[in-house]
Amino acid sequence: MVKLAMLGPPGSGKGTYATRMAPKLEVPAVSTGELLRANRDDPKLGPEIRKGQDSGGLVPDKIVMAVLQKRLAESDAKKGFILDGFPRTIEQAESLEKFAKLDAVINLVVPERVIIARLSSRRQCSKCSAIYNTLYLKTKVEGICDKCGGELYQRSDDKPESIKERLKVYEKSTAPLIDYYGKKGVRIDIPCNSVDVPPDEQVAKIMKALKDKRVIQ
Ligand SMILES: [Zn+2]
Repeated sequence: MVKLAMLGPPGSGKGTYATRMAPKLEVPAVSTGELLRANRDDPKLGPEIRKGQDSGGLVPDKIVMAVLQKRLAESDAKKGFILDGFPRTIEQAESLEKFAKLDAVINLVVPERVIIARLSSRRQCSKCSAIYNTLYLKTKVEGICDKCGGELYQRSDDKPESIKERLKVYEKSTAPLIDYYGKKGVRIDIPCNSVDVPPDEQVAKIMKALKDKRVIQ
């Protein structure tokens, strides 16, 4: 059993690393952003999700918790999970602890200039949601997903005007979690000071840190 969460500002590579670590650890990478998008048409939870997302605000915690709890009860999460994009606040971390205690929290430490360079070059598949990057994680055919042939697009929140705003939000709401998990003794800091570190190299660094801390064998 290994229960992990990725912590780091937008553009730190959380999703990319989580999806690469998942098969190695035989657990699912669970992105709350994707989960919420997938539940937009749910008759019970959908209306509140749409309201939050479409107004550019946040989806209420109780909705996020409900969607997440349902996901983590699925059979593929029996051996654990990697959370990407959650928790974002101390309140969420406390709620999470009631049904899942994290073994380790990977804290990606990335300078702002690196984040801006990365985010504005990020592209996502419109069909399968795979993430690419025009700088260091290119597709074989420009603009087309390697996995499913879907068309790539730039998420509206990856445009420069949105990036600085998102970093501000992160600083205010999520940065306190860095201390919170430090005090709990589960935080593992992973520095990343350059834009074009190949994801597999960074994943190897994270896996080694998990072994060194005896979180995994
Ligand atoms: Zn795709």
